Amino acid sequence: MSFQRLIGQKDLKIRLKHEYLGDPNHAAIFTGAKGSGRHEFAREYAKALMCSSPTDDGACGKCNNCTYFDAGTHPDLIVLADPNKKTIKVDEVRNKVVSDVKICPQISRRKVYLIEGDELNEAGQNALLKSLEEPPANIIFILICEDSEKLLPTVLSRTVEYKLSSYSKDEIMDALRSKNKEEFDGKYSEDELKFTCEFSSNVLGKALDLLGDEELPSMRDKCFEIITNIGKEGYCATLTDRYSYFDANADNIREILLLMLWIFGDLSILKKDRNNKNITNTDKRDVMLKFLDDNPSVDLNKISKAAGHITTVFKRLDLNVNFLYAVGDMLLGIKKELT
Ligand SMILES: [Zn+2]
Repeated sequence: MSFQRLIGQKDLKIRLKHEYLGDPNHAAIFTGAKGSGRHEFAREYAKALMCSSPTDDGACGKCNNCTYFDAGTHPDLIVLADPNKKTIKVDEVRNKVVSDVKICPQISRRKVYLIEGDELNEAGQNALLKSLEEPPANIIFILICEDSEKLLPTVLSRTVEYKLSSYSKDEIMDALRSKNKEEFDGKYSEDELKFTCEFSSNVLGKALDLLGDEELPSMRDKCFEIITNIGKEGYCATLTDRYSYFDANADNIREILLLMLWIFGDLSILKKDRNNKNITNTDKRDVMLKFLDDNPSVDLNKISKAAGHITTVFKRLDLNVNFLYAVGDMLLGIKKELT
């Protein structure tokens, strides 16, 4: 992979190119929210720094350095991360970095330390500081961090920060279209891609993970089935069959609740304007219009109250309220509004 394959971040790519083709700063930090691509950019930058003949587009992908890098066996790339994604031990910092920086690179012209900044506590950062202050030649430190404010000012002042900016809807849709074509032979429709983009709240990494997630479409279908039928069925069915679905999918409860909220959001838009194009579940427009036509008594007020029952469950689950009580109460509340 080269920079060209990474989505967006035009300005960042120009800045990085200037570094790896020129005289790079000895310490960089890549910051950005979850799903922003900070790991991908940090790795691509590390690869370009180590490559024997980097191009305008990053590492060449062909030299020995690139081959070892891709295989994860490059002796001059040192990755520092806690296997449990918690805290890197201070001893690890001392052994893998502080003592190691004195050893010259073996194959590449540079040695790169790729460090999970979020997993460094204060002691770990202090241990790293001396190496950052007096770096031997040909050593580059790359830290990856969700938020640079978690790092000590003394560490930050010795690094150049590269902040990943958020992605536009168009950039995310382009990335989804590419993945759809390359990995799924184009099986997802444009409407499904749009839904995936919306459901990810425009977070690139999340959107790409969601595409191909087998559970999401079936969960969404189930949510539609529940909402369009719950008003017609008996209390017993609601409290046994419907509840059992939530119980069996308790691990995905937040996604399911979110899907239901989005359906109510769309119902509310369509209730006001049948032709509104700004709905999320565009491919389910007919299903929702039929539901509204078949249930004329379901007005905006009732839709809003039904959605309110879902937001209450979010709060209750955060407060560790009993699952059966929280979900059962929600189902009965929604049933009341939609009957
Ligand atoms: Zn190369």
